[in-house]
Amino acid sequence: MKTTVWVLGDQLLRNHPAIAWAQAQSQDYIVLMVESADRASRLPYQRKKLVLLFSAMRHYAKRLRAQGIEVDYVRADTFDAAIQQHIEAYKPDEIVTMAASEYRGRQRQMTLGEQLSIEVSVLPNSQFLLHENDPYPNPVPDKQYVMENFYRSMRRHYRVLIDDTDQPLGGAWNFDKDNRSPLPTTVTPPAPITFETDPITQEVMRDVNSLVHAVGSVEGFNLAVTREDAQAALDDFIEHRLHDFGRYEDAMSSQHHTLFHSLLSAYVNIGLLEPMEMIRAAEAAYHAGTAPINSVEGFIRQILGWREFIYWQYWRQMPSLRHANNWGAQRVMPQMFWDSNTKMNCIQHVTRRLIETGYSHHIERLMIVCNFCLLAGINPAEVADWFLIFYIDAYEWVVYPNVIGMGLNADDGRTATKPYIASANYINSMSDYCKGCAFNHKQRVGEDACPFNTLYWNFIIQHEKRLRANPRLGKNVLGLRHIDERERMLIVEQARAFLQGLEYYKS
Ligand code: FAD
Ligand code: SF4
Repeated sequence: MKTTVWVLGDQLLRNHPAIAWAQAQSQDYIVLMVESADRASRLPYQRKKLVLLFSAMRHYAKRLRAQGIEVDYVRADTFDAAIQQHIEAYKPDEIVTMAASEYRGRQRQMTLGEQLSIEVSVLPNSQFLLHENDPYPNPVPDKQYVMENFYRSMRRHYRVLIDDTDQPLGGAWNFDKDNRSPLPTTVTPPAPITFETDPITQEVMRDVNSLVHAVGSVEGFNLAVTREDAQAALDDFIEHRLHDFGRYEDAMSSQHHTLFHSLLSAYVNIGLLEPMEMIRAAEAAYHAGTAPINSVEGFIRQILGWREFIYWQYWRQMPSLRHANNWGAQRVMPQMFWDSNTKMNCIQHVTRRLIETGYSHHIERLMIVCNFCLLAGINPAEVADWFLIFYIDAYEWVVYPNVIGMGLNADDGRTATKPYIASANYINSMSDYCKGCAFNHKQRVGEDACPFNTLYWNFIIQHEKRLRANPRLGKNVLGLRHIDERERMLIVEQARAFLQGLEYYKS
């Protein structure tokens, strides 16, 4: 019996279940890995994202070969062409693979056997902790589920930061109130670890550099592309940044791009790290007394809570999530998100650094990019594609619920029970962006008025009735009492003129 083990590009696990399965059966097996040109150009992706993915894949293949495992590494136009070519060359009796984390990939796996007249086994995906404990195995379609309850169930199941009486360590489940400080000018976050490129990465950089249909640049690529380096990045975070992660988790800064964040999402999303090792590393730092509970719990909440909840929401809501558009938003993405050419200081900083690095942290994604897009009525699928293009850690399973669900509230509140909308007041309280901006963060109307303010109040005026019905937004709507009829008309008119005057992206 000859077996082909097909390892997908975002499944670079040290213990890949399909390889382990073939080894346990003592099978005659070969690993198939595919670089598909078609897949890499489905959208004009960020070049650094492609370098990370292809270099990590090629390093993974090299590592398997060093372990004595035969690898057929195919570069082809499409996955179908690659698999066909492999089957003709190796004539396997069966294909074994691990379930793709994305809907389209999993659909393809399910139909592959029939298409190729070969036996195909799809093993459960082991990149998420949900496979062992699903807090809501039979969700009601329209029901809103709250992340907090999901998270507590995961904590209890995996015994993470839990004492002998089944209660949370530190006396609370949640330390959010301690985790909302802006960054003082006296604090300088330690720069994250970076990595030299080796000949494999340099070759990938040359390949990717020549792509016409892509954004950003390969120059300055300094990410981990092997498991060892990704582990070093985890150690670096635990040692140097976890301590203050919690306190400054929501802060934004024009001076410090990454603050105390971990920068590990790109690695865990392609299998170079595993979620539980990240969680246990943070937990160990708490027990060793090197990081406080608000930081450790805050970090663990992101992975065991948000990351798993988001994956769960994706599979609960697909395929309709991709087209969800609860607020009927129809505009395309403004050009400033593609070239960072804007006088809006916050958007200028976030997009410029994003184009350079492929990264911005959670609050900038939510409260700058998505906040603007929701207030400006940008079509959710357009925004999701933009995220998929620019962010190095972006895959459909994580983008659709975070962007279409949480960020744009386009899924009838299934992912988040309220729209995350805010005026410049919030941005000013959590960042130094407004200090260096051409706009005035205190004004709602007038030439200098911050567009976030105008759009925010315009959104509330346009959707007043609907927002009033949401118990979590009553407070925002109450602010309208202080705005008289004349100013309301000025706000609506200025918002209309601003949106009309924006330049929009033309593909
Ligand atoms: P940290 O702040 O250090 O957090 C630790 C880890 O928690 C991350 O590495 C990540 O693995 C996980 N995590 C935290 N929040 C989430 C979440 N909401 N969903 C999934 N994982 C989470 N994350 C992605 O991996 N890819 C994306 O394309 C992506 N798009 C996002 C879009 C929007 C609108 C929002 C609000 C969030 C998005 N996130 C995405 C989640 C989060 O912003 C990133 O995981 C995080 O900023 C990555 O940086 P970090 O590794 O420094 O994270
Ligand atoms: Fe952004 Fe408005 Fe502040 Fe300028 S004033 S940085 S546009 S929030």
